[in-house]
Amino acid sequence: MPRPPLVSLAKGAVVEYRLQRAALIQQLQTGERMVEDICDAHPGLIRAAKGVGRSLGETCPVCHEGVLRQVVYVFGDKLPASGVCPVSKADLRSFEMRELPVTCYAVEVCVRCRFNHLLRKWEAGGTSTARSKVAK
Ligand SMILES: [Zn+2]
Repeated sequence: MPRPPLVSLAKGAVVEYRLQRAALIQQLQTGERMVEDICDAHPGLIRAAKGVGRSLGETCPVCHEGVLRQVVYVFGDKLPASGVCPVSKADLRSFEMRELPVTCYAVEVCVRCRFNHLLRKWEAGGTSTARSKVAK
C-alpha cells in the first residue's frame, strides 16, 4: 500500500506553485518549452523519489505514464547544505518543531521521465526565543 504524501503541519504561510506548474505544462503543449527543459531531475532527486518519495496518486502530466512522487526537503541552520529528506510524518514534524527556523520544499517528481516541479514551500520551526537569539 503506497504511503500518502507528507503534509506540512506548519501553521505559517504555505506558498503554492500550482499556477506556475499549470503555465509550464501549457508552455510545453504550445511548444514554448521543450520536454528536456522540464524533465531534468537531478540524479539525487530521482534517488530520493525512489527511496523516500511518497506517491501523489497522480499521473505525470508530461509522459502520462509515470506516477508522480513527492519528496520533501528541509533546509536550515545546522542541517546539511544539501538539505534533509524527512522519511515520515513524525520526522517532518520534528524538523518543523525545531528551535531553529527551517524552510521546507515539497517537490513532485516523475522517476520515469524525470519531470520535476516545486509544489509548495513553507517556513517552520524557530520558536520566538530561538528567533530572538538569531536576530542578535
Ligand atoms: Zn513523467
